[in-house]
Amino acid sequence: MDVVMHYLDTYVFDSIYYKAAELTSTAPLPRDSLFRQSLSLFVFVYSYIVTFYFGTAGLSYKLIYDKKQEQHPKFLPRQRFLEMACASRALPQITIMTIPWILGQLHGYSQVYKEWDKFGYAYLFLSAAMFILFTDFCIYWVHRLEHHPLVYAKCHKLHHKWIVCTPYASHAFHPVDGYMQSIPYHLAVFVFPIHEYVYLALFAFVNVWSVMIHDGEYVASNPVVNGAAHHTVHHLYFNYNYGQFTTVFDRLFNTYRKPSHEVYDRSWRNSKRVQEAQAKRIDEALPSLEAVDKSCKKID
Ligand SMILES: [Zn+2]
Ligand SMILES: [Zn+2]
Repeated sequence: MDVVMHYLDTYVFDSIYYKAAELTSTAPLPRDSLFRQSLSLFVFVYSYIVTFYFGTAGLSYKLIYDKKQEQHPKFLPRQRFLEMACASRALPQITIMTIPWILGQLHGYSQVYKEWDKFGYAYLFLSAAMFILFTDFCIYWVHRLEHHPLVYAKCHKLHHKWIVCTPYASHAFHPVDGYMQSIPYHLAVFVFPIHEYVYLALFAFVNVWSVMIHDGEYVASNPVVNGAAHHTVHHLYFNYNYGQFTTVFDRLFNTYRKPSHEVYDRSWRNSKRVQEAQAKRIDEALPSLEAVDKSCKKID
């Protein structure tokens, strides 16, 4: 992140802080001021995540998303706008909670490194694989614990308002929920070394992935990859498929549910008969879901 901040300071922020100092007749804040770094990081990270969210989800909605899903009986009125509003409320707060992690990186406490060959070129691929597995394991448990009755209503219920998702559901969380599920991404670089550009690329990838698993379009039925089909099962049937990237930990800890054939077949899943049967199964399952989640109802 320090390379990004270096360019931002040089081409954007230095002149802004200089002008602000002129206007207030004070000395410009130095680059190493913690207040300036926090403020600059908020402006940059928030601009990045909002642009990325609306850009990626918007493209996915326009080009990939099967809009016939909006006819599903469990699709809420004006749901797409409710998802956008929910994400827009959450993102500033998630950004603020994220800043201490990035400050930790900027001040050299993480294991981010700059030299491409510091651990050999093979390690670049190995570290990317470690990042996926480490974050998948952590998110599995964060997500699973968020389904615990003591936590669910306060933290994760909002994301399950979307039973049939659009890509805009990807970041439509309660802010604490979104932050908790993002902690493994920030924590990873404090646990093992990752090259700074590999880390930035992985960070973009995880945001795209989050949109992809909510866009309802099922490219392949790979049994190991936790794709849109698996996450659709999570939103439809609640306490299965907690993983983010793989099905490995759901299989290991007995929460895996194989998507049925109707989830993959576009004409089948859009048939009124299948959608009504799905809605009926969800309504029938609600009492047992609420037995797991005793503290609240699944839908507002
Ligand atoms: Zn969940
Ligand atoms: Zn989701």
